[in-house]
Amino acid sequence: MIASRHNIFGKFSHSERWYLVNLLNRQADILDAETAEAYQRGIWGDNPAWAEKGYIVDPQDETKRYKGAYLDFLDRRENDEIQLFFVPTYACNFACSYCYQAAYDQNQTYPSSAVLEAWFSYIDQHFAGKRKYLTLFGGEPLLNSAGQREFVEAFLRLADQRQLETAIVTNGYTLVDYVPLLSRYRIREIQVTLDGLAEVHNRRRPLKGGGSSFERIVEGISAALQSGIAINLRMVLDRDNIGELPQVASLAIEKGWTSHSLFKTQLGRNYELHTCQSQAQVLYSRVEMYEDLARLISDAPQILEFHRPAFSLSKFLWEQGELPAPLYDSCPGTKTEWAFDASGKIFSCTATVGKSGEELGTFYPTVTLKQDKIDDWEERDVTSIPECQECALALACGGGCASVAKNQTGRVHSPDCRPVRELLSLGLELYFSENPKTKNEETYVAKY
Ligand code: SF4
Ligand code: SF4
Repeated sequence: MIASRHNIFGKFSHSERWYLVNLLNRQADILDAETAEAYQRGIWGDNPAWAEKGYIVDPQDETKRYKGAYLDFLDRRENDEIQLFFVPTYACNFACSYCYQAAYDQNQTYPSSAVLEAWFSYIDQHFAGKRKYLTLFGGEPLLNSAGQREFVEAFLRLADQRQLETAIVTNGYTLVDYVPLLSRYRIREIQVTLDGLAEVHNRRRPLKGGGSSFERIVEGISAALQSGIAINLRMVLDRDNIGELPQVASLAIEKGWTSHSLFKTQLGRNYELHTCQSQAQVLYSRVEMYEDLARLISDAPQILEFHRPAFSLSKFLWEQGELPAPLYDSCPGTKTEWAFDASGKIFSCTATVGKSGEELGTFYPTVTLKQDKIDDWEERDVTSIPECQECALALACGGGCASVAKNQTGRVHSPDCRPVRELLSLGLELYFSENPKTKNEETYVAKY
């Protein structure tokens, strides 16, 4: 018997406690110092539970289970819902300091009805029988011109005819004007970005040519929620604005957003994608951002009422009382996500849409597919990336983002490593702590 190659072992960030996590067996334990030392020294015999829980294994037996769990993963994904993004325009009324699309074509034209019909016909055929929903993305898909409104209504009508829901990713400036139109159709959710209170938000996300956007976004969020439209509020974080998080959380609480059942949040990390305009010194690495988040949360626990960060598996374990199924692939591109633009081109996802050289085919004027490139994307997971095949973190990490990996190495089948150990150290400390504001009384994790 040997230690499982999927064991993830580490120390809590601020206390003398250790964790042992194994995704293949879906086991997690908090260890005291003595037990952690026994584990590190390989003294298995003293503790029969190591084998019962799959922390020590017969390697051949484990290989069989790894293959079986992989087939289960593929089966599950086959039935997953697919998200289909459509970009009507790359034009935008904002000049965000970190926009990765700033160099894209900013001409304000709207997709012709021929393009729209070709797109719906393509998705009818290529995703027939699949659960799916649509997402309008940009640029800014809700520009407030007659042409854009006509396009949005035509899109939503065609989606409705197919009983498909549409999500919209918008900067939120015109949301308040669009709410009456949107509330007549099947809207899954509206994703809006708010990067701080007025001063900081307006500095980072001003109108083109200057001008504030904060008040109108806040108005739009409240109007959407009042009309029964779900809001997914995103905050893009870097060193410049992370200090705003407690105030944004307080604003959301005061406005009654956080107690609304249709309100949810996400925190994004500002990072260099391909044509990012940010100054490098304000960007966080993943670990740095989560370190600062953990510190902020212990000082301002109202943040948790606004958003509970994942800290890798920590939040899931804390909320669900068990680990998720092993993650053989964390990148949905070309599997459960595709993106399309008004020029008729097909891309893997939102990270690649519109980027020259990343096209995977066309749906208009004719359907063409670059099958070899598509196969490359579709075959990417932790079993195909050499570095991931030997990595203990693989089933928690899933290989990361294919686009980031390709930007760094030129290869889709290369890793975008996630700092799983560091995030678990911070997150388990936060969620399984003695802090009464964050403590879960029903901690299931066994303690040796
Ligand atoms: S390439 Fe990156 S951005 Fe695109 S779907 Fe994969 S993980 Fe997401
Ligand atoms: S991307 Fe890096 S951390 Fe993630 S599984 Fe692959 S080698 Fe491990």
